Amino acid sequence: MNIRENDFGEMRRRMVIDQLSGRDIKDKLILDIFGKVPRHKFTDPKFYKNAYSDFPLPIENEQTISQPYIVALMAQLLDIKKSDRILEIGTGSGYQAAILAELANQVFSVERLKNLTEKARAVLEEMGYKNITLNTGDGTMGWEEFAPFDKIVVSASAGFAPEPLIKQLKSPGKLVMPVGPRVSQKLLVIEKTAEGEVLEKEICGCVFVPLIGKYGWEGNNAGKDI
Ligand code: SAH
Repeated sequence: MNIRENDFGEMRRRMVIDQLSGRDIKDKLILDIFGKVPRHKFTDPKFYKNAYSDFPLPIENEQTISQPYIVALMAQLLDIKKSDRILEIGTGSGYQAAILAELANQVFSVERLKNLTEKARAVLEEMGYKNITLNTGDGTMGWEEFAPFDKIVVSASAGFAPEPLIKQLKSPGKLVMPVGPRVSQKLLVIEKTAEGEVLEKEICGCVFVPLIGKYGWEGNNAGKDI
């Protein structure tokens, strides 16, 4: 199927109206950015037809590029400022990193699987992003070298928020991640106040791929598999 750039632009416009502003994404800057970032470039050409559809899409290694609405919701919940330094855990395709890089000053993103990091690196470089730093490793350990972060977003799920991530969050700072059993989770906003108090708020139900590492599944802190 031959889809032209114009068609992708129209698909993005519809995605913004039907899936984002038509729901509860009201941040004008976020809506503009979703209308601009070419999600199809982060997918395999065989999925181009659905590159702007209202669901996650498969990438390599049985991972997924999250549903556009969830990426937008996480960004809106983080209340990102242009000066923010953000840590993302689970680079996957790199799409969410691109969205975050449009909103923030610096994005540091960690992916467990090397081939995904390298593929995301190639796409993001080709698109000209200069404020994204990628690394392959266990993101449940955070990224000590660049900590602390104003905001942290985890796009894979665990039974608990990894301790190193809470430590590497600034006061004040915000972390968004799916927490709960493997089959379905709750999207949580964890806020560290200026006084260092940690508050938790449940937003909605969601389903993410598992966060695999020392402070995720199959680690010392495997979480609760209900
Ligand atoms: N934000 C991504 C969605 C990626 S899906 C996008 O926009 O495409 C979640 C990703 O988390 C997968 O690529 C998976 O390999 C990765 N992941 C799982 N456990 C991880 C860990 N401990 N550290 C870093 N990445 C991890």
